[in-house]
Amino acid sequence: MRDINKYVRGAIAALTPYSTARDEYEGELGVFLDANESPYDNGYNRYPDPHQKALKAQIAAIKGLPAENIFIGNGSDEAIDLVFRVFCEPREDNVVAIAPSYGMYKVAAAINDVEIREVPLGEDFSLPADALLAVVDENTKALFLCSPNNPTANSFPREELMRLVEQVDCMVVVDEAYIDFAEAESLVGEIASHPNLIVLQTMSKAWGMAGLRVGLALADSRVVALMSQVKYPYNINVATMQIVSDLLAKGVSDEVAQIKQQRSVVAKALAELPFVERVYPSDANFLLVRVADADALYDHLIKDGIIVRNRTRVKGCEGCLRITIGLAQENVKLIESLKRYEKSNIR
Ligand SMILES: *Cc1c(COP(=O)(O)O)cnc(C)c1O
Repeated sequence: MRDINKYVRGAIAALTPYSTARDEYEGELGVFLDANESPYDNGYNRYPDPHQKALKAQIAAIKGLPAENIFIGNGSDEAIDLVFRVFCEPREDNVVAIAPSYGMYKVAAAINDVEIREVPLGEDFSLPADALLAVVDENTKALFLCSPNNPTANSFPREELMRLVEQVDCMVVVDEAYIDFAEAESLVGEIASHPNLIVLQTMSKAWGMAGLRVGLALADSRVVALMSQVKYPYNINVATMQIVSDLLAKGVSDEVAQIKQQRSVVAKALAELPFVERVYPSDANFLLVRVADADALYDHLIKDGIIVRNRTRVKGCEGCLRITIGLAQENVKLIESLKRYEKSNIR
């Protein structure tokens, strides 16, 4: 099996991580005079578990993965940033990504002073596997893929993703933020046999916890250990862990089913409108739609109090709006507003 240690920055491989008071004593009961906390119990006076053991056990059961393969971040955004901090030497290494895709890969690259090589998607937003392989070089430390992809809404074939994981000599991040809305199965089953694979998932979309900021990196235990050493010790707070735990126990399968059903209702209604040129197939909780005049339609919807994402200035998405699937009554409002736009344009 491949050795991922050679992808790790020297400073990180040599790091002596911060040791918290709770690292040095593990017991549950006792008189805690070790962390300079306030002794007055208000529910939050104690530091959170830096290893998030209880939450990891719960997520492990849901994902069918050992806890040692789970990193919990302050949003997936923290995990994305940590990929740079763990693997990429600033001004020396590079990462490769598809474009258009999620904007944070580029921002995290810029903040970490790491070159990002963006490879445009192929025809109909297909995965440009050969072009990606062609730009990966000996300084490439990570390849960022997103499936289902934001903003194009499509998933890439599992065989093509895994071919890249196997063929490149670097880490491969597959961002599965929208996997719960897809027909395709997650790649998490592949991490046991592919130590260079990092699968990102998030509580922000299907799980309905965007406000709590919890994202997951699912990977080889060595990768999880490295990311855990570099993160802020208390990156997930006590309140968040409690609320996430309660919401995880409730589940969201009904909501996900509703959103998928509404996605086909909205897609069908959109396709019937004359100014809609293309409704791209979606494996996510949004639709990418190409229209005759994206800016004009965007402004019309704003006037009706409906905010969508105008992607017309994103290369490869010219003329496109990205529309999140809402509640049934919100989607009705959207369609009604689009029909009014159609009428006002005919006159
Ligand atoms: C929304 C989204 C995320 C979620 O990020 P969080 O920081 O977990 O909220 C991650 N990746 C993609 C592609 C997304 O669209």
